[in-house]
Amino acid sequence: MSDIRPHEIKFPLPEPEDASLYFIGRIHTPWTDRKDCPRQGRQDGPECRVEIFEPWVQALKGIEAYDEVELLYWLDKSRRDLVIQNPGHSEDTFGTFALRSPVRPNPIGTVKAKLVSVEGPNLIVRGLDCLSGTPLVDIKPDRCQFSPKASPKP
Ligand code: SAM
Repeated sequence: MSDIRPHEIKFPLPEPEDASLYFIGRIHTPWTDRKDCPRQGRQDGPECRVEIFEPWVQALKGIEAYDEVELLYWLDKSRRDLVIQNPGHSEDTFGTFALRSPVRPNPIGTVKAKLVSVEGPNLIVRGLDCLSGTPLVDIKPDRCQFSPKASPKP
């Protein structure tokens, strides 16, 4: 049986060029099966815990001043070799870069999450759509808030 859907196109993956990512933490959500995850996170979704690893915990300094944060994560269970995808199992196909599918050469997911609280090395957030255990790549404050609302204490 084929491992791709009708009309999809895959390519053999080239040798990776080394981007040397650091996974800075892990995301804990209620979902352990991809089919149970929301397609896109909603800010009225369940509270989830974003665990930050050492030595990156002190890099959270000042984050509590923001209502929203962008999270970037590595969709580690995704295949990476499809250039044309058939998300609806129909005649319609789309290029990978015309989709927000987790299937992409570099499977980075992003959400704008509601920051509920900061509890030591953990951020409590709403708005996620990934499996529990998904590796965290980066955190950025909301791009509309160019500077923190409150100055971080020295
Ligand atoms: N919000 C992100 C974005 O737009 O970049 C991700 C959207 S993607 C459509 C979300 C889907 O990815 C989920 O519904 C689930 O099917 C799948 N998914 C979640 N966690 C994953 C993981 N760790 N590895 C592979 N697929 C995952």
